[in-house]
Amino acid sequence: SLPDPAIDIIKNRLSNVKHKILVLSGKGGVGKSTVTSLLGHGLAAKSPDINVGILDADICGPSQPRVLGVHGEQVHNSGSGWSPVYVTDNLSLMSIGFLLGSPDDAVIWRGPKKNGMIKQFLSEVDWGELDYLLIDTPPGTSDEHLSAVSSIDFTFLILVAGLQLLDTPQEVALLDVRKELQFCRKVGVPVLGVVENMSLFVCPNCKSRSEIFPATTGGAAQMCEDLGAALLGRLPLDPLLARCCDQGTDFLQALPHSPAVVALNDIVDKI
Ligand code: ADP
Repeated sequence: SLPDPAIDIIKNRLSNVKHKILVLSGKGGVGKSTVTSLLGHGLAAKSPDINVGILDADICGPSQPRVLGVHGEQVHNSGSGWSPVYVTDNLSLMSIGFLLGSPDDAVIWRGPKKNGMIKQFLSEVDWGELDYLLIDTPPGTSDEHLSAVSSIDFTFLILVAGLQLLDTPQEVALLDVRKELQFCRKVGVPVLGVVENMSLFVCPNCKSRSEIFPATTGGAAQMCEDLGAALLGRLPLDPLLARCCDQGTDFLQALPHSPAVVALNDIVDKI
């Protein structure tokens, strides 16, 4: 491919970030943003000395400001770049949502601008020193986008294989993640693993575990085995989690013993 000066600028900008983790999903609505925000809280909760940043590059629906409870905050561009918004002392967020006047503005960023916008974002945010930068990618981030970033030394990549409760046959949702996983293998982007979301329900009363789509049970595990990727964990469907996300409440602190938090902490320990 052609030399791209933007890549050098991004590499330089991110040189103080130890682990750059892209979070991808084949389809929208499978819980990619939710998983990203939970991982952010989970990693930051490990120690006050661990600095975590979240870059919300989901142009089509930037949801991190709401989920992280900092909706409506203003961001400032100082001489050294855009300063992120602090959610807690050691968790910061930069979102395309902060830069858009109204949610409808998102439309203008679609299509060919998408790629350029992500690069611009990666090169213009002043994160300071970070241990982890989690990047919430737009749904349908394609081979083309992955190739564009494959020359940046992203340390890891997490794919969220979520089950969609609406109109997609579950095999199709999984197939999309499989394709992305194969592509990452091909271009040599290291894959940290796969998180399976919303495939399981734990009854709050009797604690029994039910598979929500029995026909696809084991599908993600099989995919991981076929392609030599780790299944990092299964995040259960939890209505209280959805409510916390809507209200911008830190689910880990609000419900530390819920099955979803237990599963999440287990995933965080593997990162
Ligand atoms: P994506 O980023 O992949 O489009 P979101 O993270 O926005 O998906 O999730 C889609 C919807 O599903 C949101 O309303 C979110 O609150 C909900 N959701 C995601 N994961 C869970 C879960 N484990 N339990 C309950 N609701 C969830």
